[in-house]
Amino acid sequence: MPTTVEDAASLEVRGVELAFGANKVLRGVDLAVPAGRTACVIGPSGSGKSTLLRTINRLIEPDAGDVLLGGSSVLPGSPDVLRRRIGMVFQHFNLFPHKTVVENITLPLRKLKKLDTGAARAAAIEQLELVGLVEKADSRPGNLSGGQQQRVAIARALAMKPEVMLFDEATSALDPELVKGVLGLMADLAQSGMTMVVVTHEMGFAREVADQVAFMDQGVVVESGVPDQIFTAAESPRLRQFLSQVL
Ligand code: ADP
Ligand code: MG
Repeated sequence: MPTTVEDAASLEVRGVELAFGANKVLRGVDLAVPAGRTACVIGPSGSGKSTLLRTINRLIEPDAGDVLLGGSSVLPGSPDVLRRRIGMVFQHFNLFPHKTVVENITLPLRKLKKLDTGAARAAAIEQLELVGLVEKADSRPGNLSGGQQQRVAIARALAMKPEVMLFDEATSALDPELVKGVLGLMADLAQSGMTMVVVTHEMGFAREVADQVAFMDQGVVVESGVPDQIFTAAESPRLRQFLSQVL
């Protein structure tokens, strides 16, 4: 068990729209993830998956629509408050290279949660123990494998005790032999009752771990359902074509 999930919340995306200039990237996205469940988002490159996650976390503000966490809109409050509640893990880890592993984890605890140095370090060490990397606490990220760096990034997010976790192609930058360990950690986290939205090209993970799979194309969720439905009885021609290319 990689963490103690305290209060996972439901997450709902309602009619979210977003344009970059003339490029309409999200055209009314709907997605509902009950508390403690895992949704995988699949779809071709450029379909808006990363932009959707960034909109949920308010790294980008949507032009229209709403995002609800535990039934309440996240849009009124400050983005900093929201980022205490939603953890995000990126393809390229986004660790600070000049800080140690433990400093990478304590920084948001001190900045966003206002923990003092001692409490932040204790929380960071506890989380590193849970992901099996406590012996790397005082190393720099560059001295770790990609898989270890991604586990640190996951530990950093989990140390905040988030209510929802977002993963954006968390294993796409890893050497093949390191993918399994990170996916295993993510599967354990899903099992432990975290609410998760996982953008992934790992169809095996989506099939085995997801409670629901949403297929995005051209800025909308074209089809969603339980993995069995999506992978063996897809209705939309676009999803069928996508699956024929990736499976
Ligand atoms: P995916 O993650 O599914 O590959 P993205 O959400 O990254 O798709 O991108 C969807 C579209 O939005 C692409 O056309 C991309 O070029 C565009 N886009 C993404 N981020 C930006 C940005 N910061 N500024 C302008 N265009 C962007
Ligand atoms: Mg992306």
